[in-house]
Amino acid sequence: MDTPDVIIRKCEELAFDLNFTRAKEWKAQDASRVLVGNMPIYFPRELVHAANGLCVGILGGGDKKLIIKGDAYYQSYICHMPRSIVELVLDGHFEGFDGFIFPSICDVIRNLSGMFQLMGKGTFVKYLDYPQNFSASVSEDFYINELQYVLDQIYAINKVEVTAERLKNSIQLYNKNRSLITELYDIRQQFPWRLTAADVYHIVRAGYVIPVEEHNEILEAMIQHIQVDRGKPVDKIKVMVMGAFCEQPPVGLIKTIEMAGCYIIEDDFLLGARWVQGDIETTSGNPMHDLCMAYLEKSTFSSSVYDVNNPKENRLMELIKKRKVDGIIFAAPSFCDPALLDHPILQKACNDHHVRFISFLYSENTGQFKVIKEQVGTFSDSIKLWDEPVVINNL
Ligand code: SF4
Repeated sequence: MDTPDVIIRKCEELAFDLNFTRAKEWKAQDASRVLVGNMPIYFPRELVHAANGLCVGILGGGDKKLIIKGDAYYQSYICHMPRSIVELVLDGHFEGFDGFIFPSICDVIRNLSGMFQLMGKGTFVKYLDYPQNFSASVSEDFYINELQYVLDQIYAINKVEVTAERLKNSIQLYNKNRSLITELYDIRQQFPWRLTAADVYHIVRAGYVIPVEEHNEILEAMIQHIQVDRGKPVDKIKVMVMGAFCEQPPVGLIKTIEMAGCYIIEDDFLLGARWVQGDIETTSGNPMHDLCMAYLEKSTFSSSVYDVNNPKENRLMELIKKRKVDGIIFAAPSFCDPALLDHPILQKACNDHHVRFISFLYSENTGQFKVIKEQVGTFSDSIKLWDEPVVINNL
C-alpha cells in the first residue's frame, strides 16, 4: 500500500489534471466506453457508469488556467468559473468527451450549456432539469424522463443496454464511495490533525476524474492510514465553510483558513460527491425509481435547491450540531446569485442561534490571501478567547 503522502500527491495531480489524462486513458481501453462531462453540483453518476461511461466532473480551471479568450464570452458581473470552462473548451481540453451535462442550478450554467451547443461540443449537451417539487407522485415520472434522455443519448453512441442489474451494481459502487467519503469526514471531525482540509479536498476531487472503482481503493487505503494517529493536534477552532458548492475556492484559500487558526471540519466544496445522504436503496427491483427517490428524499441542502418543506437554515443548524463546530465561514464566489441570495437567511439563523460567522467572497483564481488570513485569524482568536461553545436548541 502506498504511504499517505504518496496517495495525497497522486490525488493532487489527478484532481488538477486539466487534460483529464486518466479519464481519456480509461476510455481508450475499450471502444464502447464514453466520457460524459458534468458541471456542478450534482448528477447521479451511477447512471453513466451503468452505461459503460465515466462521468468527469468539470469544475473550471481554478488558478491553473490563464483566461484569455473566456472573458470575451461573458459580461464582467458574473462568476468566474464559466469563463475558465470556455477557455478549456477553446483550448481543446475536452476533446474525446462524448457528452456534457449541465444540472439546472442557475442561469449561468443554463447559458453555458447553450454555448456548448453553439460550439458543437460532444455528441450531446443536456441541460438537466431537476424536480422542484419533492413529492414523488408529482416528480418521479418527470425526473426519470430526464435521466432516461441521458441514457438514450449514450445508447445512441455505444449501444450498451443498461439493465436493472447493471444499474444496481453501479448504485452499490457509488454507495460505497459516499460511505467512504463520509468515514473520511467523520474521522477528521474527531482527529482533524491527521489530514489537512486541503488533503481531503484533493482526495475527494480526484474521484471526479477517475473510475469509481479506483477512487474507492484510494479512499480505503487513506482511511486505513488515518485510523492511526499522525500529525500533531494544534489549538484551533473547528469551522464549517459554506457557499463554495459550485465554483471551487483555490486550494490556497483552503490552506489559508487552516493556517489562520481553524480546522475545516465540514464544507460544501465538492458537494456533488456527497449529495445523497446515506445509501441509495437497491431492493425495489427498479433502480431508476431508487435513483429518483434518493434525489427526492435523501438530497443534502444547497442554495440551488428550494425545498419549501425542509428549510435549509434548519438543516444548516442541524449540521452544525452534528459536526460540533465553533463557527461558520460563509465563503461564496463573487457574483454567485444562489449562494449570495441565501446568505441573509442562513446568517439570520446563525444570529438567532448564537452561531458565530464571518463571510467573504473569492474567485477560483484569487491569488492574494493576506486579508482573508487576517479576517479568519481574528475570528478564530475571538472565539478561542471569549466565546461560549455553540449550543443549538429549539430547531
Ligand atoms: S458559481 Fe454560482 S452563479 Fe456561478 S455557475 Fe455556479 S451557481 Fe451559478
